Amino acid sequence: MAKEFFHAEEVEEIAARLIEIFKPELEGFEIRYTFCSENPKKDGREAIALARKVTGFYAFLAGSPDGFFCIEVGLPAWEELTAHQRIAVVHHELCHFGITELGNLTILGHDIEEFNDIGAVHGAYFDRLQIFADAVEQGNSDTCGRAELIRQILNR
Ligand SMILES: [Zn+2]
Repeated sequence: MAKEFFHAEEVEEIAARLIEIFKPELEGFEIRYTFCSENPKKDGREAIALARKVTGFYAFLAGSPDGFFCIEVGLPAWEELTAHQRIAVVHHELCHFGITELGNLTILGHDIEEFNDIGAVHGAYFDRLQIFADAVEQGNSDTCGRAELIRQILNR
């Protein structure tokens, strides 16, 4: 069966709150939110969601010639997530959206890309790995007030 796409209202509502709190620089830029009936694939692996920018010819065809960002979420994967995981996934995808000094849309890469095996043997052998490890520890200890954040987003 062909893939079906439809507007992802729930994703948009979560994103709107996250943008207010964490990504105010994205306010004023168009972002579209789409569910897909199949999980998207990235580098041959099934993913939960994908962040894209649409510019040029495709943006023109889509009726937004200035370009826009898009978050595509696989509905099968989304339905398996807890409320907290949904918020984290949307936050992750929003972190891929950047604006250049010239005001152009850009897709940002991940802060780290690594193998579990390397971490298990070599630890944080580059600073950026330690920065990530510290960030995870901070998140796990919830010193950033995650529980309150989730409450805020869910009780809009
Ligand atoms: Zn990503």
